[in-house]
Amino acid sequence: MNNTKYIDWLKVLPTDDLRYDECACPECGSLGLKYQYFGLKKIGFGWKLIWCDACKSAVNISRAKIPEGVNCLVDGYEQAEFNAQHSYLRLIS
Ligand SMILES: [Zn+2]
Repeated sequence: MNNTKYIDWLKVLPTDDLRYDECACPECGSLGLKYQYFGLKKIGFGWKLIWCDACKSAVNISRAKIPEGVNCLVDGYEQAEFNAQHSYLRLIS
């Protein structure tokens, strides 16, 4: 493990969501990061969780702008469900 910091992730994260597939994990170097948007779709802002399935590292981007038409978990129950299913993630701050 590299013990990366939040800032190390911000440096490599693509601005375009389509390019997450080709982004190498700053922690372990595996190719392809996952992401999920959360929030209040009505106002177009929320937060975005980004993680690596290989090493289970994750970062949480607050105040993320939610693009049109993207899958965004707004419902509190759905958010809790997602968090339960991904409780193995290790959040980097
Ligand atoms: Zn990784």
